[in-house]
Amino acid sequence: MDIHVGDIITMKKSHPCGSKEWKVMRVGMDFRVVCLGCGREMENKRSAIEKSIKIVTRAGRVVSKEELSVTRTEKWAEMGKE
Ligand SMILES: [Zn+2]
Repeated sequence: MDIHVGDIITMKKSHPCGSKEWKVMRVGMDFRVVCLGCGREMENKRSAIEKSIKIVTRAGRVVSKEELSVTRTEKWAEMGKE
């Protein structure tokens, strides 16, 4: 999945604070994201975060599933490294 730093991801489950939106701070094998509701930072494996993503918003518009697939980053993931 092609996620960029600065993207806003909407998760399937909400954070305890009630927000489902997170901003991407760092991408790689692990993602660092910050909750837009309470500002808490979380770091998790790429695969775990990708599974829980519902919507990706980039520069104010929703990124389609097609745009998110077939990317360099996906090839890197297949190789097991960045
Ligand atoms: Zn929160």
